[in-house]
Amino acid sequence: MKKNLQTLASIVLSALLLASCGKSMDAPATPEKKDNADKVLTFIHSLGFSQNSIVDNGNAYIVDEDICFPKDMEVPEGKPSTEQKWIGNKLTAANAMNIRIKVDPSMASMMPEINSAINQWNNIGGDIALHFSIVTGSPYDILIKDSDLGTTCGLGAYPSGGKAGNLIQIHKAHIAGYDFAHRQRTITHEMGHTISFTHTNEAGGQLIPGTPVTEASSLMNGHECGVGVTVLSDYDKIAARWLY
Ligand SMILES: [Zn+2]
Repeated sequence: MKKNLQTLASIVLSALLLASCGKSMDAPATPEKKDNADKVLTFIHSLGFSQNSIVDNGNAYIVDEDICFPKDMEVPEGKPSTEQKWIGNKLTAANAMNIRIKVDPSMASMMPEINSAINQWNNIGGDIALHFSIVTGSPYDILIKDSDLGTTCGLGAYPSGGKAGNLIQIHKAHIAGYDFAHRQRTITHEMGHTISFTHTNEAGGQLIPGTPVTEASSLMNGHECGVGVTVLSDYDKIAARWLY
């Protein structure tokens, strides 16, 4: 019975989390919810993001246009330690080895691009324990779906509670005109956010030891949809190995 309750609780929680990066449902905020949202905002500021890079979309704060911080996310305790860049909140080792992606039917036509993106992260090489796979049912960790994001190509959620960010939204119509390499780049980039990468070329986040402050050939550069590099750079890979 207790187990059933736990299962039910986790289903309800997953449903809540999945809703959180979408557009606002405008549910009245409880004091607890507002309290956590304030903590999330303080956390975002503590990472060095400027106020004008933060947009409140109701259930989440969107930072640097394509990074989603759900207002109900679990904020890491303590100050981020100082030193590509990451959010200071990553997957547990066990979760990093088993990141399950569910592809919403709305993204089924981009399976080749999704598989190409998965191959990039799964084939970094060297001393790393990171593995994505596609699952068709539940449980899963990340849902990838098509969303009308205006002029934004994609949106990736940050990790929370030791798990990968649970939602990747791709603006399919917006990237449809790009070549295959750039369509898969958008997906590879958003996957990077779900495992805690921030933008290499922007303020915010913590610098990963052994990587430069900025790098033109990083796939994790922001605002480069359709024009940026299409394969993970050597420093992107060094950063991934440092994280996992
Ligand atoms: Zn991004």
